[in-house]
Amino acid sequence: MSFVNIKKQYIAIGMLLFVVLFFFNSKPAFQCQITPEVTTYLPTIYGITPTYARLAQKADLTRLSQTLMLVKNFHWIVIEDSEKKTKLVENFLKESTLKYTHLNVKTNSSKHSTVMDINICLFKTDTFNTSWYCASGVEQRNLALDWLRKHLKQSEDKRGVVYFMDDDNTYSLKVFDEMRKINKVGVWPVGIVGGMRVEMPLVKDGKVSGYNAVWKPFRPFPIDMAGFAINATLFLEHPNAMFSRKVQSGFQESEILKYFTKTEDLEPLAENCTKVLVWHTRTQKPSIISPSKLKHPIPPDSHIEV
Ligand code: UDP
Ligand code: MN
Repeated sequence: MSFVNIKKQYIAIGMLLFVVLFFFNSKPAFQCQITPEVTTYLPTIYGITPTYARLAQKADLTRLSQTLMLVKNFHWIVIEDSEKKTKLVENFLKESTLKYTHLNVKTNSSKHSTVMDINICLFKTDTFNTSWYCASGVEQRNLALDWLRKHLKQSEDKRGVVYFMDDDNTYSLKVFDEMRKINKVGVWPVGIVGGMRVEMPLVKDGKVSGYNAVWKPFRPFPIDMAGFAINATLFLEHPNAMFSRKVQSGFQESEILKYFTKTEDLEPLAENCTKVLVWHTRTQKPSIISPSKLKHPIPPDSHIEV
């Protein structure tokens, strides 16, 4: 064997080693390319949020939107209770990274000042004042449902989940995972509501058998707005399903649910309604000192958005 031949053999073995090592080193990338991507279908969640101008509005919307940023396949429908869309909400939504639809409709206050409304509104007394309290968000949620029906009719994918979300509640990310499991209407407990630590459906053998509510327990569905979600397709199947000003306070949830389900057909989620994943928190009304009452004048701040 000549010297030249031996050298060629070494070169060939060296090259082979190089190729083997190259593939060994690049194994993960190589594997990634050939592993078929597992795609699981995630239905869109349509979150419907009425909102109105007040000092803590931007704070409440900020907290809520930053939760929603962590939810996959989420479409936020924000409806302002106002004659016109406000710059605050418009800019707020534009600056967010969320998929959203911005609507507005003013609550018609004349609708809840008639004599009949004594049955519909509550006479409420709190630390500061006594006033009539009528259901909020009725016109706003109905406008969102009109939008949703038009949107779904035009969409190829008519599936989805509808969740009515007040702007000052507290939502765990887990509640969104739960609601994607629903077939028709899913329910779960709500923390700190109706004068209770937790208001919840009672579950027996995997079925809802009743409720633990103490506030107006005679309601057909004594659960809070935050405690259920509905399959979006059902809104196309029931084109008349909507909220109403004609029902007494606390009956809005029952009003919408009656179109779709009965207690025994509700789907208990959140580990058979044993986990609290949403809280009916309420932001305290801030009390601001009037500048005229201050001893020392302070620089003007009205140009600053709060
Ligand atoms: N809301 C509204 N207009 C009003 C009062 C409330 O659009 O005049 C909205 C509010 O921003 C919230 C929802 O309706 O998203 C429910 O109102 P709120 O949180 O005050 O109800 P509560 O906490 O008393 O159940
Ligand atoms: Mn609230």
